[in-house]
Amino acid sequence: MRYGWKHRGIVVLLALVLALLLSTGALAATKLIPGGPSTAGPTPTAGIMTYADIVKTLYSIENSSKGAVDVFTLTEAAIYSKTKSEAGRELYVAKVGTGPVRVWVSANIHGNEQLTSEAVLQVLQYLAKSGSADAKAIGNELTVYIIPSMNPDARELNIRGTVLQSGPNIGKQVDLNRDWKNAMEASESKAWYAFWCYMKPDYLLDLHHQGFKTVPYTNESTSMSMGISLSPDRNTIPAAYKDPVRQLAAFVYDDIIGYGYTHIDRYQLFGYPAQGLISELDFMGGMSSAVMVGTSFFDYDGLNAVANWTCPAMFFETKGNTSDGSLGQKANGYLTKQNYQGVMAYLYGLASGDVWDVSPSHWYDIPAYSPIWGYYTDFGPQPAAADAAAGDWAPLAFDFM
Ligand SMILES: [Zn+2]
Repeated sequence: MRYGWKHRGIVVLLALVLALLLSTGALAATKLIPGGPSTAGPTPTAGIMTYADIVKTLYSIENSSKGAVDVFTLTEAAIYSKTKSEAGRELYVAKVGTGPVRVWVSANIHGNEQLTSEAVLQVLQYLAKSGSADAKAIGNELTVYIIPSMNPDARELNIRGTVLQSGPNIGKQVDLNRDWKNAMEASESKAWYAFWCYMKPDYLLDLHHQGFKTVPYTNESTSMSMGISLSPDRNTIPAAYKDPVRQLAAFVYDDIIGYGYTHIDRYQLFGYPAQGLISELDFMGGMSSAVMVGTSFFDYDGLNAVANWTCPAMFFETKGNTSDGSLGQKANGYLTKQNYQGVMAYLYGLASGDVWDVSPSHWYDIPAYSPIWGYYTDFGPQPAAADAAAGDWAPLAFDFM
């Protein structure tokens, strides 16, 4: 699938040029085999969109979309009393498409994971204006809600979490991707949760960066990881979602691996809880995790009491981030395009139904690493051996509050 991306040759060429540069010793000192361009050198945040740039781009796309795109703030949506960030910034959504299947595509829930925002704006631009057959198919079958930045305060500070501006914990940095089902401390968490309960997505895709990561036991850097929330081999995830999330991840993987992106794998945590041990995610406080296990389980302020809404979720984890020097000078365009391609594959797979032709077991063909020591949970490390001894972990047995 091309999704109108006509520059595949350029991406391949870029990869070849970079491979040549690397082979000539430009970065030999790092002894790192890159998954894409170098991660060496300072992160050029000056070239990355500010929140003001994002807002300006949203309205620019809307204004030239001939009605195809509707940009609105959560204040304008007026769903709930909390509609802004902790520091008072407006929170933006762009709606595109008129189809019956609702899809939530969000980026930048972590403020220092910023390239994903530009990627989803490129997707919005393409869906709004290309007029191509694939964009039309997506628009006819899906209604896509694109959220380019869930965390503008932290984006402006280039840090992970938002900073509480009031209350007993004023000044505390809160990770929005641990706040759902846990404390719900941040204004953004409440505002986005209310919107999620209101719009009731059928699918959710959340875009992240994973910091610098190498393939376990090697010095190869990873360019992107496919994340399923939660681990499909555990019983925390609803049984009905296990196959769809595997199919979606495998479909996206098959599509983007052909574009010259190297070292795409399944998202696992290496070195947690102790160096040399590989774990998988099984935590529920994350936004994309919480939506899968049912937010009514933590029905904040009665917002989800009636709908009792849940949906399958997955996430992308692109390498590097914008705060610790783990993106190089040449990585930005490459990694942004990788996310663009992944989001387009995800949406087209859903719109066309092609994703359901993929065998769920194909998920296990995406590179992963073993042995699995256990699982990263809201309650700390959970050894896989404990499952074998006690049956699969039952989340309801734990006290969330
Ligand atoms: Zn993240």
